[in-house]
Amino acid sequence: MKKFWNIFSFTITCVLLSINTWAKDNAVILLYHHVSNSTPNVTSVSPDTFREHMQYLAEHHKVLPLKQVIEALQNKQPLPDKTVVITFDDGYGNIYDNAHPILKEFDYPYTIFVNPSLIGSVDYQLNWQQVKLMATEKASFANHGKQHNHLLSKNANESKQNWLSRTMQDIEDAEKTLEQKMGYSLKYFAYPYGEFNKQLKLQLSAEGYIGFAQHSGAIASYSDFSALPRFPAAGIYSNIETLKVKLDSMAMLVTDVIPDDPELESSVQEQIFTFNIKSVDLLPQKINCFQNGTLLNKSIKQNTILVNIQPIIKPGRHRVNCTAPSTGKKDRYYWFSQPFFMPTAQGKWLD
Ligand SMILES: [Zn+2]
Repeated sequence: MKKFWNIFSFTITCVLLSINTWAKDNAVILLYHHVSNSTPNVTSVSPDTFREHMQYLAEHHKVLPLKQVIEALQNKQPLPDKTVVITFDDGYGNIYDNAHPILKEFDYPYTIFVNPSLIGSVDYQLNWQQVKLMATEKASFANHGKQHNHLLSKNANESKQNWLSRTMQDIEDAEKTLEQKMGYSLKYFAYPYGEFNKQLKLQLSAEGYIGFAQHSGAIASYSDFSALPRFPAAGIYSNIETLKVKLDSMAMLVTDVIPDDPELESSVQEQIFTFNIKSVDLLPQKINCFQNGTLLNKSIKQNTILVNIQPIIKPGRHRVNCTAPSTGKKDRYYWFSQPFFMPTAQGKWLD
């Protein structure tokens, strides 16, 4: 009997330890674009809403620099529970005018992914003088491509290999400019429009970059570092009530995702999307997957989740988001998202 209790308590300790470790092996990256009252709603938060977010983070989360979080996860070092990273894409001037003063007040580190060829070239962009000043006040700068092109766009009669070389050259050029201007090269790359395919992310990884995308989800040591998810926090996603759940979320440990290439050559009819679930702190039957707000039908075969995704007919960006409650941590959810990208019938990519 004593032996039974020893084994029993050992098992319980292991489960609790692993749940505890996972929560410490986890972070959430927020993604902003504009902080302004006069820019497109879908990519903007007002300065008031931005302040509300920052205040909420001060009360409930630990804000850390992107580099510190990435290095901790890569080296499997623990992070404070509920760690959050603040990022911006595109390098708009209103970040300097409206966000930077608030971030400075809260003493938060943050990262801006910029297009070096656009910096200082138009009045709505940051200029290098502002960039350098912000860099002395807890901002770091990373690569968002030379000019914010749709990277999946191919030239007429361009081979896949030539497309990949041209695209990687664009990324390398932007990184070189950043290194010259800033004196450092993080090799962190945020895909413009969050669009990538399997070939590009593998090449990016092979060249030593970390990729950042725009599908939602938390990150952990077991995440795909060639396309890390971030939670957009603008427009309809800026509501603090819905954002709270995302800020508390944890990365779902999944493997063997099929289909694993997010680029769709043309529209797809109803199909099965599958992945294997490795987390033990969740019940597979509690996983819910959504596509455009619609709950999708699913079935489970051992550890494999089979999701019936709806036809993808409209060109643009699509996502399947799957969540499941943690069995060990109250009110916390595991999150996994798979993006799909489709061009128009003419092969164009929509903004
Ligand atoms: Zn962008």
